Amino acid sequence: MPSVSWILHQTSHVGNVGSAARAIKTMGFDQLILVAPKNSDAIRAPDAIALASGADDVLAKTQVMDSLALATKDHHLVFGLSARDREFGPPSISLKEACAMAQGQSCAFLFGTERAGLSNEDYQFCSHRVWIDANPSYSSLNLAQAVMVCAYEMRQSLTITPPTHLKEPTLKATMESINALMDHLREGLIAIDFLNPSHPKKLMERLRSLFDRAGLHPEEVDLLRGVAKQMILKNDKKI
Ligand code: SAH
Repeated sequence: MPSVSWILHQTSHVGNVGSAARAIKTMGFDQLILVAPKNSDAIRAPDAIALASGADDVLAKTQVMDSLALATKDHHLVFGLSARDREFGPPSISLKEACAMAQGQSCAFLFGTERAGLSNEDYQFCSHRVWIDANPSYSSLNLAQAVMVCAYEMRQSLTITPPTHLKEPTLKATMESINALMDHLREGLIAIDFLNPSHPKKLMERLRSLFDRAGLHPEEVDLLRGVAKQMILKNDKKI
């Protein structure tokens, strides 16, 4: 199986952690990551071990991290799972589209909290918003069930369309490099007075949506950082 991470953000119930470990192991995956779980010892909690039911090896090697920035930084594609749509943020795609896109890329599936799901800030670390097709008037699955559906679909897509049948995929820029580009560009846009930091008018969010839709490649990130650098330099010379 290729590199697929399963990230649970600020999970409250340790039982969901155990069930998620079981779900991903059943489907042939093993990289579970917890970001700031409510119980910092979730992977050793008796209820987690009980619900993992034989997937305690996955649980034992689960990484616990402090931030989403750290957990997502090396991935080319980060799918933020949500039953709801939002005005801003990355483009929305179906789970099937996400799984097809993930072939040959290092990807992560990111799940929100049991209570509130993923926040707007969390989507800063996602390349796409992904929805699981469901009853429109009752669409919210339990966290571990959502993990199960995604792991199943990902397995189907890998076994039905193995990467060898596809042309060589082009690697996308990592989440870390895109967030660094956003910081750099923000600085540049402030330098040329295009962005007023006290009235930002969602400019950065709009630009980020545009970049997410485009699916930037590393050399395109470098190009845009070159533009940002020049904006800052030109402004420095003026003074
Ligand atoms: N009450 C929360 C949902 C919590 S469910 C809310 O209203 O957003 C826990 C997590 O499971 C969600 O954050 C999401 O990542 C995933 N999930 C549940 N149902 C989903 C669906 N239909 N499509 C995509 N993700 C879903």
